[in-house]
Amino acid sequence: MIKIYLSNEEYHYDIHALVKAFYPEDQVKVIVQIPDDNTVSESDSDEESDMDMIFDISATTIKFNIIKNSECIYSENNNVDTKDKKLFKNNLKRLIYHCLSNFTGKELPWGTLTGVRPTKIAYEMLEQNKSVDEIKDFMKEQYLCSKDKIDLSLKVAEREITLLHEIDYKNGYSIYIGIPFCPSTCLYCSFTSYPLEQFGSYIDEYLQALFKEITFAGTCYQDKKLSTIYVGGGTPTTLSAKQLDQLLTHIRKTFDFTYVSEFTVEAGRPDSITMDKLKVLKNHGITRISINPQTMNQNTLDLIGRKHTVKQIIETYNMARELGHDNINMDVILGLTGENVDDVTYTLNEIGKLSPDSLTVHTLAIKRAARLNIQKDKYLNMAATDVSVMLKIASEYAKSADYLPYYLYRQKNMTDNLENVGYAKFGKEGLYNILIMEERQTILALGAGGLCKFVFHDENRIERVENVKSLKDYIERIDEMIERKRIFINNNY
Ligand code: SF4
Repeated sequence: MIKIYLSNEEYHYDIHALVKAFYPEDQVKVIVQIPDDNTVSESDSDEESDMDMIFDISATTIKFNIIKNSECIYSENNNVDTKDKKLFKNNLKRLIYHCLSNFTGKELPWGTLTGVRPTKIAYEMLEQNKSVDEIKDFMKEQYLCSKDKIDLSLKVAEREITLLHEIDYKNGYSIYIGIPFCPSTCLYCSFTSYPLEQFGSYIDEYLQALFKEITFAGTCYQDKKLSTIYVGGGTPTTLSAKQLDQLLTHIRKTFDFTYVSEFTVEAGRPDSITMDKLKVLKNHGITRISINPQTMNQNTLDLIGRKHTVKQIIETYNMARELGHDNINMDVILGLTGENVDDVTYTLNEIGKLSPDSLTVHTLAIKRAARLNIQKDKYLNMAATDVSVMLKIASEYAKSADYLPYYLYRQKNMTDNLENVGYAKFGKEGLYNILIMEERQTILALGAGGLCKFVFHDENRIERVENVKSLKDYIERIDEMIERKRIFINNNY
């Protein structure tokens, strides 16, 4: 464990995230208190620490010491010459980055950027009509980003701006509907997901509650245009063809589709997809679906608990094409347990034969609740290496197959502090992905674990209202979930 002793609570999150980025394998704990002798803490001696980092931050100076085995092994004192809070924070992060980089010999591809949306900087600067060179210099000097990541941010931001200008997103809103059931639980999963075998008997009750919430959502905005609908999960196609038909019928009759430019059902797991379900999706005018392999290596699929075969991926994909689904996304994950660069190259080649319309490349992020974290000792020697190389291979593959990057985001605990990138053939992008990831539009999120984001453009304000995650609580407390949203909307619009 690494213990960080910090004099100023204000920088807790940023410093924790930066240290964690340099030491992804270690547990990092922040204590907002500087030890008296500025060396080691006696007050917290119950937890063994492999290394202590002490950040003594005042308005004008930053003192940084690293202590190991009671000895100071690294020390820096720096003056900070600014009263501007934002500049101070950026300076502070750069100084800490340089110290840790000197100490570890590592460079981070995203520099000091530790947040979820690194493209936001390029996006906002482009909107302010800054030149590409100005943006490049700014991201390099202020945030120490690598050239590759700056170029990627710019490409994504340029594409996002073009796509968003095609819809009246500021006067619109989008809907997310969560179906929290899956055929089985994947090893790395940390989403709200309930395995069908154990929880299948709740589906009808869940749908009743969900229909009630959908009906309410239909009354929320009479003066806003509905831009996109996204049915995700979980795995929406764990519903039977009949249940899926009922759900989509209810959505169709509740909302005004005049301005809807995208209606996605993230089918997801191939083991839940059938010809009947694909027909239901087609009949209801679904414009975009996802059939997610994650990998095309059968050994890995078995290991990560996907319970489907590579053959099923290919068969369901071909079935969807035969029925005329003309916008199919496929998700892959880089850094899966037991995989190496050759496995990823193989996966991309196999996916290339199918030629989906978009390809979303995730880097494995192991969250606390995932089995992969809970049972980590079991998989200790199977962690993937060279994930940065895998990401580069994926990016080169995407370029060679005419996919353009159009959205990008990062999560906590991502392997090597990297990113997820959505690539799409020209015109086949998922607009919802941009709207949610860039927080450009109000999203009403319905279902267990749904997190509504209300975006107030004029006030530069975003507010969140969430539903309970537990399936049983959601069913029992549906009226309360609806009331939460009603009160928020009444008080804010
Ligand atoms: S398909 Fe997705 S939501 Fe379902 S268990 Fe796997 S990772 Fe979780």
